[in-house]
Amino acid sequence: YVDGMFTDGWMRRFAASVSATETELTALDQAAGDGDFGTNLTAGLDATLRFLGDPPTGPSDPAAPLRAAATAFLDEVGGTSGPLFGLLFHELAVAAADAGAELTVSALAAGAGGGLSAIRRVGEAAPGDKTLVDALAPACGALRSCDRKGDPRVALARAALASWEGVRNTAGLRARRGRASYVGERASGVPDPGAVGIALLFSSSAESVT
Ligand code: ADP
Ligand code: MG
Ligand code: MG
Repeated sequence: YVDGMFTDGWMRRFAASVSATETELTALDQAAGDGDFGTNLTAGLDATLRFLGDPPTGPSDPAAPLRAAATAFLDEVGGTSGPLFGLLFHELAVAAADAGAELTVSALAAGAGGGLSAIRRVGEAAPGDKTLVDALAPACGALRSCDRKGDPRVALARAALASWEGVRNTAGLRARRGRASYVGERASGVPDPGAVGIALLFSSSAESVT
């Protein structure tokens, strides 16, 4: 079920994935930016876990854990990625609240698509600029192309795969946005850390559906 237990588990699993890969995320941002991406993402997820509550909210409110993540990232994280991830979680929470007790593929697509639009409006990055947009846009495309009332497990697995393909493509791009655009050739061949963060988010989602 893609309910409140799912979104709660999703946020916890995302936190665990980031914690397990923080060193790698930091190394990517050292190569392509200023080295704080792993720290920024970890700070957002530590705050999210604090806001999630113990025991978890329960199955009937899938929006609550997403709202906790939105508040955590918007209020407590510096860097560029904090507010951008915050916008994505906010739009996912809005779509989840509209959907009710159980998320559908179409609600997931609407939430992720709303997040992509908000991020592009604020950050002004286009696909191909070597940012997290290059992982989020293909994930949104995959969700949109799935049967709106189909199995969310299939849709989320496809979204995860598409986002990792997007990550792979960022390695060959030259950054036109964010700090990575200042380091020039030094970042060539290095995948964008923010894009990796997005792909970890979708992988975590696919692993959290029961
Ligand atoms: P900072 O660059 O401020 O240190 P972080 O290290 O937390 O921020 O995040 C870096 C990531 O943010 C990049 O890898 C990239 O994916 C993303 N990013 C940077 N600028 C933009 C932008 N204008 N639009 C979308 N994503 C961006
Ligand atoms: Mg950074
Ligand atoms: Mg920074």
